[in-house]
Parts: sequence; C-alpha cells; structure tokens
Amino acid sequence: MIDSFKEVAVIGAGTMGNGIAHVFAQTGYHVNLIDISQDALDKALATIAKNMDRQIKKGGLTEEKKAEALARLNPMTDLAAGVSDRKLVVEAATENVDLKLKIFEQIDAAAPADAILASNTSSISITKIAAVTNRPEKVIGMHFMNPVPIMKLVEVILGYDTTDEVRDAVLEISKDLGKVPVPANDYPGFVANRILMPMINEAIYTHYEGVAGVEEIDTIMKLGMAHPMGPLTLADFIGLDVCLAILNVLYEGFGNPKYAPCPLLVNMVTAGHLGRKTGKGFYDYSK
Ligand code: NAD
Repeated sequence: MIDSFKEVAVIGAGTMGNGIAHVFAQTGYHVNLIDISQDALDKALATIAKNMDRQIKKGGLTEEKKAEALARLNPMTDLAAGVSDRKLVVEAATENVDLKLKIFEQIDAAAPADAILASNTSSISITKIAAVTNRPEKVIGMHFMNPVPIMKLVEVILGYDTTDEVRDAVLEISKDLGKVPVPANDYPGFVANRILMPMINEAIYTHYEGVAGVEEIDTIMKLGMAHPMGPLTLADFIGLDVCLAILNVLYEGFGNPKYAPCPLLVNMVTAGHLGRKTGKGFYDYSK
C-alpha cells in the first residue's frame, strides 16, 4: 500500500465499482465506497464478501485478511463527505456523459485540491471530463477490466493536460494493486475498445450478412485465433447496449463510416436483447 494514497474513494458500487473497491481494500487502502443507491451498496458489500470467500477456497486469502479488508470498506451515499479527505478518487458510476460531468464537478468542489481524480469510463473522453474541473492536470483514466479482482490490465488514459507526475502516481498505485498498467493517450475508444469493438462489430456483420451462424463464428475465432471466447459470446458478456454505445463513440469521434454499428446490433438493443444481463442476446441464457 502506498502511504501517501492510503485513503481513497470509489464512486459507483455497481459491477466495476465493487471490484475496484475490493482490490483497493484487499491491498490495504481505506475505501469510502459511494453510491446514490443504498441497495447498490448493500449488494456490492455482499458481492465483495462472496468473491473473497471464493479467493479463500482457492487459497489466495485467509478469513483474517478478509475480515481486515472488509473493515477497511466504508459504504456511504454522501459524495461530498466521502471525498473530502481523499487523495485519490476513482469514479465508476453509470456510463453517461452528462452524469459523469456532473459527478466530476461535485468531486472537484469537495475533494482536497491536490487529490487525483480518476475515471473508469470505457469510452468517454478524459479530456472532456477534465475540462469541467479546476484541475484538468490531475484528471486521468483508470480503465479496469471486468471482473476487476481477476483481470490484470489497467489501461491508464492520459488526458490532454494530465501531468507526468499524475501518470506516474497512477502507474505506481495500479502496480501496487497487483495490476499491469499500460498508458495510452485520450482518443476515442482508447486502445482496448478501439481494437476490440470493430472486431465484435465485424463478427455481427458476418452473421447479419449470412456468412455463418453465431456458433460457427465464435468457434472459428476461438479455435483459429486462440481467443478464450468468441466475439459474439464476448459481446453478450459485455452487454450489447455497452458495445453499441462504444461503437457510437468511435463513429462520432472519428467521423469514419468503418465504425458504423451493424443494423442487427442496433435492432437487438432496441428490442431489449442486451446479452447475459437480460437473459438473451446472441445466445439464450434463460435456462
Ligand atoms: P453499473 O451500472 O453496474 O454500476 C453503476 C453504479 O453507479 C450503480 O450502482 C449506480 O447506482 C451508480 N451511480 C449512478 N449515478 C451515481 C451518482 N450520481 N453517484 C454515485 N453513484 C452513482 O455500471 P458498471 O458496469 O459498473 O460501469 C461503471 C463504469 O465502468 C462505466 O463508466 C463503464 O463504462 C465502466 N466500465 C465497465 C466495464 C464492464 O464490463 N461493465 C468494464 C470497464 C469499464
């Protein structure tokens, strides 16, 4: 644990926020976990405890260490109070530009002037988020991967004004969490999604144009490219609404038709078939 950043806040206790809070608490950081929904906070703590039990079963954690980590987690709903004494704030709230800009204005007003403000956004410009604060040089992307306790990568996104000091501090903190941080500049989709989403979109087009079925496409990519899962399985896992939103960011950000989302993806999202989370996407998860 890096002493100068011992006190952190995580905003948003959903899928990503609970995973981020989990790894910080387990590494020795004191975490204010903040959400507008008490229900989300209750669920997050239950999920963290359950995931730690799984680590204990695998021999990666002890009951004692679990209890210590859980004691370092402080769930709360008051954002201003939760960030007021923090040196690092990691925002992982819902992926919505207007919401994130509002949250960053609030964090900027309430957090200490020297605090680093990070966002876990998958696709929103860090430079745009930084521009609503009075400290754009201290705003940075910490793009964790799902599931956070397991996935090693943190894509560290450097906004237009992010300083080298802030970059280095975030690289060091990420390594301290047991992750492998990789820096990238702030352009649409950063690196991970700029490369992944066109591949997923092309897989959807391949199916849409009748070249091959869903399972055939996934099997070809899995066995042929040694990918752990096929692109359509992965799209269902990520959420088809999330894939569509990121493709739209690429399409609008570059103004290049090669990123235009496949009409089949648009239709599936409109119909509410979003993948695993709704029980139906390219595959049926209802059974
Ligand atoms: P989620 O919907 O599971 O959780 C979002 C949480 O934010 C909810 O609990 C919601 O109550 C809370 N929230 C909304 N408004 C808030 C506010 N004003 N203050 C505090 N909390 C608020 O979403 P998620 O999948 O965890 O995604 C969070 C962020 O992580 C997004 O920016 C997303 O792009 C990014 N991300 C997601 C994934 C993924 O695979 N899910 C991967 C990498 C990055």
